Amino acid sequence: MLKAIDMHVHILTGDRARQGWGPANKAGLPLSTGKWTTDPNNMAEMYQSMDMMAVIFDVDGETRSGMKIDNGETAAWVKKYPQTFIGFGSVDPWKGKIAEREVDRCADLGLRGMKFQQAAQGFDPTNERFYPIYEAIIRHKMPVIFHTGTTAVAAGSPGGRGIILEYCKPIPYMDNLAARFPEMQIIMAHPSWPWHDDQLAVLRHKGNTYMDLSGWAPKYFPASTVHNINTLVQDKAFFGTDYPMMTPERWLSEFADLPLKDSVRPKILLHNAAKLLGIEAAAPLSATQS
Ligand SMILES: [Zn+2]
Repeated sequence: MLKAIDMHVHILTGDRARQGWGPANKAGLPLSTGKWTTDPNNMAEMYQSMDMMAVIFDVDGETRSGMKIDNGETAAWVKKYPQTFIGFGSVDPWKGKIAEREVDRCADLGLRGMKFQQAAQGFDPTNERFYPIYEAIIRHKMPVIFHTGTTAVAAGSPGGRGIILEYCKPIPYMDNLAARFPEMQIIMAHPSWPWHDDQLAVLRHKGNTYMDLSGWAPKYFPASTVHNINTLVQDKAFFGTDYPMMTPERWLSEFADLPLKDSVRPKILLHNAAKLLGIEAAAPLSATQS
């Protein structure tokens, strides 16, 4: 029986797959894969062994990085492991019309949502030039993940290799987007440190916003985040690891130690994501009993 959905899992495709995680790891991205590897075959086996599904995606930052990704490869992994993987696409917003058409292609390929990383892609998500891309995403009723909070990408390097953290602020960026596009289901990735309280304000105010709890060890979640996912935003938070930056094993063991209600845990692990993604999942015990 399906136990959990990991909302945030990275794979590499295209040029990036050929290059592998080595350079990113050297540039400061912490890899933490345990006994598993970053080969999607291996990752599928890992998630199957834990009765989980995983939302997989790559990130297209070609304008900045010169590296091509291939959403078709993401779709091919989903096709190979349809019981385990849910695919999201990615477009480099600087590509304009090409990016718009690629959103359509992602939908045709069976990808279920889109993912942006404003730091790595170097863009202001509220700039109107990107609106047509959001309109394409909305046409396909795709939820969309935006990075929020600081990033491990290039952390510690001189000038953070030119990456600007500003665009990863929940307020004003995610708040403005959510207000401008109420039909867009916006998932703010990560607990958004050091802007976690702003993220909680957006979650509580904008009905079309969600968060994933990836990329941050649960034992270091801010107290206000723990309090809110246990109460007011319990229907809007998703389990996520940010694999290969963190293993599901570690995330789950630390999550188990958080002071959360038993009725809330299955929502965060499974039911909130299942509902958003339209995946059938057995009702939690507490719900069937009431
Ligand atoms: Zn990530």
